[in-house]
Amino acid sequence: MLQLQNYINGSYTDPENGTWIDVFNPATGKVYAKLARSGEEDVAKAYAAAAKAFPTWSETTLQERSRILSKIADLIEEQLIPLAEAESQDNGKPLSLALSVDIPRASSNFRFFAHAITQFASEAHESIGTQTMNFTLRQPIGVVGCIAPWNLPLYLFTWKVAPALAAGNTVVAKPSEITPLTAYMLGKICTEAGLPEGVLNIVQGLGNEVGEAIVTHAHIKAISFTGGTKTGAHIARSAAPMFKKLSLELGGKNPNLIFADCDYEKMLATTVRSSFANQGQICLCSSRIYVQETLYEQFKKDFVHRVQQLVVGPPKASETQLGAVVSEAHRDKIEAYIKLATEEGGTILCGGERVTVDDHEEGYYLQPTVIEVTDNQCRVNQEEIFGPVVTLMPFTDEADALQKANNVPYGLSATVWTQHVDTMMRVSHQLEAGIVWVNTWLNRDLRTPFGGTKDSGVGREGGFEALRFFTEPKNVCIQYGKS
Ligand code: NAD
Repeated sequence: MLQLQNYINGSYTDPENGTWIDVFNPATGKVYAKLARSGEEDVAKAYAAAAKAFPTWSETTLQERSRILSKIADLIEEQLIPLAEAESQDNGKPLSLALSVDIPRASSNFRFFAHAITQFASEAHESIGTQTMNFTLRQPIGVVGCIAPWNLPLYLFTWKVAPALAAGNTVVAKPSEITPLTAYMLGKICTEAGLPEGVLNIVQGLGNEVGEAIVTHAHIKAISFTGGTKTGAHIARSAAPMFKKLSLELGGKNPNLIFADCDYEKMLATTVRSSFANQGQICLCSSRIYVQETLYEQFKKDFVHRVQQLVVGPPKASETQLGAVVSEAHRDKIEAYIKLATEEGGTILCGGERVTVDDHEEGYYLQPTVIEVTDNQCRVNQEEIFGPVVTLMPFTDEADALQKANNVPYGLSATVWTQHVDTMMRVSHQLEAGIVWVNTWLNRDLRTPFGGTKDSGVGREGGFEALRFFTEPKNVCIQYGKS
């Protein structure tokens, strides 16, 4: 059986303790690989390799760093099909999605930061009249830790690793133990691209073991983490007394506000996508739909009709629109929320059941589910489900929409549908979210700041925000003599 090893100092190596864990294919429910169950010793080895590589990598010219990162982007592009097949097998997502979104974006992440680093600049402040000049150096931090989740495995792994490397750091990184395959494959790509040994080290295993070892390592000075809010809070508690720099991209419960004056067809098609893309397992999916009451009944009828047409099936089939959810445990969690919804007085308008797929009877398939709720504060409407489940509720006016949208602990993203410029401006201004999309969804320009407020995280990724995170500013103040 395939063994997914660590990638340390440019080579694939077994975990020091010799133990392995099962990796499942969610589409079939079968184990397809063994994953290195690494521990502190492996993190220590990875750290040592990264620390040794740091002096040279941090002094490597920007042109050379940029050339190597661009080469990694090229190789990801060349290996689009095997990488997409691996991602789909590991995660259960439709192959078409991995081919069109996940892997192209992983390549773009490297290409974007290969260019961005050549444009990154720092400030200078002349203190007029005192013969004093200040300039700010932006220096790489050293060895940094990057920890990624399972929903967009290579996409989010590279979203951290690429800026960290571009800025001159060396990296100890960990993908999710649920979806480790494409990060494993990235090691070979980095070697082929000429990334020097030890610059990127990938340590595989469980979060509370190897992840914890990265977070608490005395000399890994910054942690960029994407994952659940509970894990983020735990990491913050461990890292804060060690004075580590932290970027936390956490959960969401994103509202979708639909005003009666919207472009109806565009809104409807996009809302189906923003609700159920990747089986609803995108942190930016809109999981709470609020519709202005004059449009509510029409929307409810048309939306449910469209959702019922969605094809749930094996990830490889070209007609599949929803594949399997990522794991058995995650399916159980989603089903528990569907059950809770009815207990809380919600009405299941469609979905709610498992789907049995021919030749994939043990796979984790669920129908896309729409739940009408009457209480904005019910748990199903307040807690992140992270699956193919959305709630639906009417609102009366702008103030009511905002009150409902903002009244959750999360603040990652929000979507607004209106053609009225005043409405879109006022609502965008008042939404408590790090990202607001108006008349669009998941429309990403990699230069823009990305991240959430409230329980959705601390810090921003994307563009120069990421390069600022992965560098330490140092002000140099020089007073020069009078002539
Ligand atoms: P998770 O928190 O369980 O795991 C994320 C990563 O952290 C994994 O690699 C895991 O092994 C590791 N980990 C777990 N415990 C750890 C610990 N104690 N110390 C260090 N590392 C640890 O999250 P998940 O279930 O993999 O991902 C789903 C969550 O991620 C959802 O809440 C989703 O909203 C969130 N997410 C957020 C964003 C964003 O940009 N804000 C993007 C994608 C996913």
